[in-house]
Amino acid sequence: MDLQPSKLPSSPHDPPLTAIVIGAGLGGCAAAIALHHHGHRVLCVLDKVRQFGRLGDSLGLGDNAFSLLEKWDCNVSDIKNIGNQAPDMSIRRWKDGKVLAVQPLMDMAGYIGHRGDYHDVFLKWVDQRGIPVRMDSEVVAYEDTEPQPSITLKSGEKLSADVIVAADGIKSLARPLVLNMQDDPVSSGYACFRAFFKPDQSMKEDPACNKYLGRDCVNFWIGPDMHLVQNTLRGGEEFNWIITHKDDGDVPESWFQPGDMEEVRRLVGDLDPDIREIVKKTEKCLDWKICYREPLPTWVSPGGHRIVLLGDSCHAHLPTSAQGASQAVESAGVLATCLDLIKGKEEVKIATRCYEKLRFGRTRQSQTNGEDLRDRWHGVLKGADEEREIDPEDVKIKNRWLYSFDAEEDARTRWKSIRGVVEHEFLTGKINPLC
Ligand SMILES: Cc1cc2nc3c(=O)[nH]c(=O)nc-3n(C[C@H](O)[C@H](O)[C@H](O)COP(=O)(O)OP(=O)(O)OC[C@H]3O[C@@H](n4cnc5c(N)ncnc54)[C@H](O)[C@@H]3O)c2cc1C
Repeated sequence: MDLQPSKLPSSPHDPPLTAIVIGAGLGGCAAAIALHHHGHRVLCVLDKVRQFGRLGDSLGLGDNAFSLLEKWDCNVSDIKNIGNQAPDMSIRRWKDGKVLAVQPLMDMAGYIGHRGDYHDVFLKWVDQRGIPVRMDSEVVAYEDTEPQPSITLKSGEKLSADVIVAADGIKSLARPLVLNMQDDPVSSGYACFRAFFKPDQSMKEDPACNKYLGRDCVNFWIGPDMHLVQNTLRGGEEFNWIITHKDDGDVPESWFQPGDMEEVRRLVGDLDPDIREIVKKTEKCLDWKICYREPLPTWVSPGGHRIVLLGDSCHAHLPTSAQGASQAVESAGVLATCLDLIKGKEEVKIATRCYEKLRFGRTRQSQTNGEDLRDRWHGVLKGADEEREIDPEDVKIKNRWLYSFDAEEDARTRWKSIRGVVEHEFLTGKINPLC
């Protein structure tokens, strides 16, 4: 499929609304695809990096994201085919691997695959629609003044559109510049050591290492204040582990900080031997401090209301939510739908204010779901005596309710009443904070 700009889906507005998206991560790509599908004209997607690498490791996409992507004519089997093919996942006891619960993999994150591979597919979908992605284009300033909101690139170039979408990630510059919010990362009290590698022949042949190497599979080992996720992809050609552990230190908030394998080996000293050895033999890992941000009282520029935040810039998730990317896809669909439902560009501010109101509660639920799971996993075995049976329900992942949700349909259903609230707020000049 090659959807050229000349073959833009028909627009609800004449002329079509124009949009610029900042950030070509999964959230920014989803925004571009959704806006295009709804007939809005995406002038470009800008990203500050010169080129993308295969960055990150495991990332999940749930059915709530797939159903929207499918509606937007994306061939979702491009993703499903490269995601983990295991039907089930097991939740095990840290010290001996005893199975505490077994669940369909779909209960967690749907398809878990490599973030870099998924990102490539999203970029391909953007490209198929003829939407230009401009690399090496760092946005350094935002302005929401008449006649149109605009951004300034590091090069000095200025660009404007009817609506500007800042999908610039957890370390968003839009958050301080557009919302005037202090960018205060909040430590979650945890950090992750993470490794993703191709196991070598000696690992594959070593019975101490290869129990989880022969096929796609996902397992979790949970213990007091820690858990380990193992994800084996491509029939055993690729292997990933992530250890979440208590951390009060000052690891910088970075996707690229090298981890200390000696510290990892110490942490896994009392781990189930069936997984311990391959972790211990891993050459290198990354150290991620798990930071989050307090919920924001607004996601929209206060002056003209035509610059909006989307994805991690306004609703970052803990890894245990397994929903960061999926919620960004939902937000993209809701924003595009709200822009459909207004009368024209003079009402963009109604669309953006409705968008944040429609999305806030849902993203909070999905964020706190991840906190709940982490706390259950880290608490359930505390002080538990060896013989006590653990109720599987206490450790199961409870994400399934999040998947059977059509965010665009929800936006259309609630549009009239939310629009009423927003119009009243504009009339009285008092916009109520989201929280
Ligand atoms: C390098 C990296 C690795 C990751 N690894 C994982 C992982 O292993 N597992 C997981 O679950 N999640 C991972 N994530 C997070 C995950 O991608 C997001 O939670 C989710 O996909 C939603 O993404 P987003 O598009 O909102 O933000 P991001 O994926 O962070 O994308 C933001 C994009 O904005 C660009 N950008 C930032 N500032 C500017 C600016 N001023 N001007 C122009 N462009 C800008 C960035 O270069 C980036 O491409 C990772 C993110 C990154 C950036």
